[in-house]
Amino acid sequence: MILIDPVEEATVGICRACELELEDAAEFAVCAACARLVEVETAQLLLRLGPLGAIGTVAQVADTKQSLAVLYASTALGPNADRIAQFLGSNRTTTRQYGMRFRAARIWTHDEVLGPWSTSPWLSPAFCRLFLMDALVGSGLAVRGKGRWEFIADEPARAA
Ligand SMILES: [Zn+2]
Repeated sequence: MILIDPVEEATVGICRACELELEDAAEFAVCAACARLVEVETAQLLLRLGPLGAIGTVAQVADTKQSLAVLYASTALGPNADRIAQFLGSNRTTTRQYGMRFRAARIWTHDEVLGPWSTSPWLSPAFCRLFLMDALVGSGLAVRGKGRWEFIADEPARAA
């Protein structure tokens, strides 16, 4: 008689980004090398975007940077807010909120992360601009329909 333990089977991890087999149970679902790459690339992207003061208040800039980190992590980790919160060490409630906005804008589908930036070369001006626009969707400052973004009027907050 062959005993199959479905629980044990489910914990066998494969890196979502490079398909390397993970030694221990898939904590974040990416291997250490890919996790480091996500971290480095997020920092590169933020560096390329420069100071984002024009976005709005200090809090809105911070929200957008966090949203950007969540969105970029999702390209490796998949559209799973809880997994991303664990990976980034970020607040789960806030991360879920970004995730809900990404879902509403169809940037996150049930298992994919899709954006117009995905066809532009990494760190090209187009990539940076389009990725930032989707990050603004996550932070609630813009909405996206079919490849178009609109800023949400929030003048009192901007003036504050
Ligand atoms: Zn990997």
